[in-house]
Amino acid sequence: MKLLIGSSSSPSECYNNKNYLQNLLIRFILGGTTIIVSISAYCTYLAARNMALADLKQSAFQEVQRGVNEIEEWLHVRKVEVETLANTSTVRSLNWSVAEPYLRAEVKRIDEFFFFQITILNGSFSNTQVGRSNKNVKDRDYFQKALAGQSNISDPFISRSTGIPLIAIATPIWPNSGTNSSPIGVFHGSVKVDRITKVVNSLRYGKKSYAFALNSQGQAIVHPDTALMSTVEKPAPSLLKIADRNLNAIAQQMVHKQQGIELMEIDGTKKYVAYVPLKEANWSLALVIPRQNIESRLQFLDAIALIVGGLTVTMITVLWQVQAFEQTQLKKSKAAADTANRAKSEFLANMSHELRTPLNGILGCAQILLRSKGLPEREQYHVNIIEQCGSHLLTLINDILDLSKIEASKLELHPHDAHFPSFLQGIAEICQIRAEQKDILFVYEPADDLPTGVHVDVKRLRQVLLNLLGNAIKFTDEGQVTFKIEAIALPSCEGQTQKYCIRCWIADTGIGIAAAELSKIFLPFEQVGEKKRQTEGTGLGLAITRQLVQMMGGDIHVKSQVGQGSTFWFELEIPEASEWVQSAMAASARQIIGFEDSPRTILMVDDRWENRTVITNLLQPLGFNVAEATNGQEGLAKAIALKPDLVITDLLMPEMDGFELIQRLRRTPDIQDIKIIVSSASVFETDRNRSLQAGGNDFLSKPVQADELLQQLERHLGLIWIHKQSESDKQITNNSATTDSQSDLLIFPAAEVLQELIALANIGNFNAIFKWADRLEATDPTFATFANQLRQLARQFDEDVILSFLNQYEVETV
Ligand code: ADP
Repeated sequence: MKLLIGSSSSPSECYNNKNYLQNLLIRFILGGTTIIVSISAYCTYLAARNMALADLKQSAFQEVQRGVNEIEEWLHVRKVEVETLANTSTVRSLNWSVAEPYLRAEVKRIDEFFFFQITILNGSFSNTQVGRSNKNVKDRDYFQKALAGQSNISDPFISRSTGIPLIAIATPIWPNSGTNSSPIGVFHGSVKVDRITKVVNSLRYGKKSYAFALNSQGQAIVHPDTALMSTVEKPAPSLLKIADRNLNAIAQQMVHKQQGIELMEIDGTKKYVAYVPLKEANWSLALVIPRQNIESRLQFLDAIALIVGGLTVTMITVLWQVQAFEQTQLKKSKAAADTANRAKSEFLANMSHELRTPLNGILGCAQILLRSKGLPEREQYHVNIIEQCGSHLLTLINDILDLSKIEASKLELHPHDAHFPSFLQGIAEICQIRAEQKDILFVYEPADDLPTGVHVDVKRLRQVLLNLLGNAIKFTDEGQVTFKIEAIALPSCEGQTQKYCIRCWIADTGIGIAAAELSKIFLPFEQVGEKKRQTEGTGLGLAITRQLVQMMGGDIHVKSQVGQGSTFWFELEIPEASEWVQSAMAASARQIIGFEDSPRTILMVDDRWENRTVITNLLQPLGFNVAEATNGQEGLAKAIALKPDLVITDLLMPEMDGFELIQRLRRTPDIQDIKIIVSSASVFETDRNRSLQAGGNDFLSKPVQADELLQQLERHLGLIWIHKQSESDKQITNNSATTDSQSDLLIFPAAEVLQELIALANIGNFNAIFKWADRLEATDPTFATFANQLRQLARQFDEDVILSFLNQYEVETV
């Protein structure tokens, strides 16, 4: 199964961020839903409560209405009875002696009246209780209304004849002739208030509820509070005039025949008062109900609402708390991570400084040896190995540093112009050697149309390629590793820098990677597959590689098949370096042996002897006067005394560090314009920037690369280098006409010599092959190219490679 992935899986921080946002969203939705549901629940609760309350109020109201109806019915029947009797001829005759026995009999029969009374126009009257009376009722309201032709029911009053509270149901007595005439007297039946009292007292709505009735003046007809009732001695006070404002207001409504139910404070507690007027009489009935009698029935609803409200508040609080807690935790862990990161970066920086310093000595000395004249080829080869191993160690240190810098987002790219074919060739050569050591084929397939100069961070691109190629070789035991590279010129406008889409494929026929593990390989410290092979690496390579490619604007892809091999590829957009200076390449290709003009003085300030030695030994042979100082203090003194052309200074030094030295130099007359190169093993961009800000002219990272140092010296001192003339160069000067083509021409020696060389290769005598190469070159410069190639191949200590090279001639000549 083939699997293809775009390797853009994010590191854990990104995952955490995603997770945090997801949680936040869930909480937001949960909180929002809770609030919306709660608001709707509250509105529903309010509506339900109001409806329930209205129902309850209605039922309280109906209770009063029931009392009113009962009294009205009773009064109505009494009124009809009075009117019926008033209409009889006996009553109309106004003859008391005739009417009395009849009316007495009626009192008994009906058994609701206390007495019947006939009052004549002057107000004198006779009744079934006292007979003829000498009192007068002309002033009574019921009498006057009846005389005015209106049947009516009076307010209760204290009877003048009997002295007990009575209600008069009065009606006019009409003469026999026609209806247009006026009443001839008034007939009324008196009923006791007891009957009304009984009905009113029967009205109840739960505990402590009570009813009362008011007459048309706002006086109590029936009231449980006896102080409000009238007696013979004292008429009842009107509720319209009492001090209690609320009762007062209710009395107003009742007297004005209004009906309703209201919540108000009576006797210090909230109570509902339902009141309904009577139609038959000018009275009104009211029922006073303690609030809880009605609202206790809503308790269940209130309790549910309270629980829902409580739950909502709890839920929101919990969400809020969780959110707040998480945020504090996040802040805390971020702070902790920052501190840990800083500590880690510091530790790594310090550790790397400690490791780089001796490495600087090793690599520096190796470079000095490589440049020294007359070092035999074999020794050069071994020094080369020292240099390569040192570089590898340096790469390892840098890997760890890189990862920590990438993680702390402190890694920056430093693109500059580079010669692309030689850059790639260098990489291919390194891989070639590694592949040969493993006995596998390394195929390098550069496209013909690759740009010559490119603007790229070569250090980082080399790192990417070496890691992918290194892995390919490491995980391949047989077959081949192919490094293919092609470039597509991207369309560009006139005057714009030409850009190329560079595509790199690194394919191997190795062990491959299982589909399930493909997503893991780009994570730091993730190693998959066999344990045996894992010991060879750190699991950091691909993590760094992917991040670097992403920083350069591309992405790494991989397809793999277990047992068949893997292919990694990526694409980068790289601008062409049109201003590419050939001399830079030439300078590195040809050995510098000195410079034109007068000798220059360089002051080297470094507390480590290894570092000073490297620079001194690199520069002295080229004709520089090199003075040394072990710290800033000493450096300043020597700079004042010697007035050197250029100072190379370290940053971290005892007594006076590099920063201070630079600042002091910049403030010292005569030498303030001196050129200063800061050379440090510090990995921090900030140190680099700080040193430049302090007044440094350039930054040279340690371990010092000789080429880089010489380039900087050339730039700042305006030097013109003198290069060593190679044999081919000499030839060029001697034979000006044909040299160019000759020096590059691969001229094979005589067949016998070739046979000899093949024989030596067959027995693996590489020493003898080296000697032959030297001998051939010395006897005839035209064999220089052949000898060089032979030496290069012999250095790989691989018979097959040499044999295939030598047999090539045989094939060509057959
Ligand atoms: P290491 O230092 O272990 O090589 P890397 O990050 O470079 O770390 O690679 C991570 C893992 O990915 C390796 O341990 C290996 O299991 C797997 N891997 C990477 N490249 C290849 C390849 N070309 N073929 C097979 N497995 C590979």
